[in-house]
Amino acid sequence: MDLFEKCHHDPLVNEAKKALAAGIYPYFIALEEHEGTVATYQGRKLIMCGSNNYLGLTMDPRVRDASRQALEHYGPSCTGSRFLNGNLTMHEQLERELAAFFGKQSALVFSTGYQTNLGTISALVGRNDIALVDKDDHASIVDGCRLSFGELKRFAHNDMADLERQLRAAPARAGKLVIVDGVYSMGGDIACLPEIVRLCQQHGARLLVDDAHGAGILGGGHGTAAHFGLTEQVDLIMTTFSKSFASLGGAIMGDEEVIGYIKHHARSLIYSASIPPANAAAALASLHIMRDEAQHSARVLAIGAYMRRSLSALGYDIGQSQTPIVPIITGGVEPTLALWRTLLDAGVFTNPVLPPAAVTGRLRTSYMATHTEEQIDHVLEIFGWAGRRLGIIPSVPPVEPVPMKFALGV
Ligand code: PMP
Repeated sequence: MDLFEKCHHDPLVNEAKKALAAGIYPYFIALEEHEGTVATYQGRKLIMCGSNNYLGLTMDPRVRDASRQALEHYGPSCTGSRFLNGNLTMHEQLERELAAFFGKQSALVFSTGYQTNLGTISALVGRNDIALVDKDDHASIVDGCRLSFGELKRFAHNDMADLERQLRAAPARAGKLVIVDGVYSMGGDIACLPEIVRLCQQHGARLLVDDAHGAGILGGGHGTAAHFGLTEQVDLIMTTFSKSFASLGGAIMGDEEVIGYIKHHARSLIYSASIPPANAAAALASLHIMRDEAQHSARVLAIGAYMRRSLSALGYDIGQSQTPIVPIITGGVEPTLALWRTLLDAGVFTNPVLPPAAVTGRLRTSYMATHTEEQIDHVLEIFGWAGRRLGIIPSVPPVEPVPMKFALGV
């Protein structure tokens, strides 16, 4: 049997080809330009409502300058792992400042968020250990568990009774690591950290919070643990630079000895080249802005709250969102793709999320601190028009929407 046989008859690829021919293939959209809140696709300007650039810092001149200067000073690559020839004093400065910002003793910087989870989890979860993972956790967490020698157990999303049941069932001698996202990337809801912390303490489990989507936004930018006042109780805080930090890379923060252990055991750190200087410098510049200018996180939270109110008022189902990530739950593949395409044609970029990535089909929309009032008003008008046209929302809104010209109050 030829190994490549599967490539010729793959059902997923066949579906993708059919969707492409029908003009409803929503992935790998190649943008000509990507300018913060506006993107150019096939010569047309789209308002970006599907980015993780929550604070809009990819467009900040200070971040761009820092990145440019690092490129010129250090060149495009360190051409090696941090373990050997690819470690810079700038990497270590970034680590010191990240640790201080997240309220932990130490930090360790990886080249991507994906590698951070892969390396951290596989280093920590050993042969007789158990990782307890929320069903909606990011794929990199699941992959980190698979790469480890321990056992992977999944509990129902944000279901504390299920987590408690599984913690009780775990053998007392097993090391236990509970891993949750601080903010869930597809639902925009926040982990029940106070209850999770309580359960971890009661059952002697350690807790890792992946704060890819909470850092820069919640807790004055310091993230989900800070939002709940639980920085000390969360053992490990992970973040990525590919969202609010306007860069590429990732980091894990925690006690010095634990970070030292990860540093010497994480294979994705040791056997992969270090984060390029331009990316490290961009992350550092963004960190300074987050630390010194609280208005950006306040504004993105206010825009998120306004969008949740307004989309609900139009009659959309936005699930359990509590953040600037606002899903529009349509319940099926066809209405999701129809809404996505109608919005795209009308000039709004969103992301469809289909089963199995989400149990219920939805559009993932997300907002940025740099969206203007006019852009938000315009987007809402299009959401209203598109949803009514497709029969996804009622022709008369259940609640009179807030007037379009609004004050954000920040
Ligand atoms: N964790 C979460 C929750 C994420 O959403 C992502 C990226 N989508 C990652 C980790 C991986 O981050 P990166 O893009 O830096 O590899």
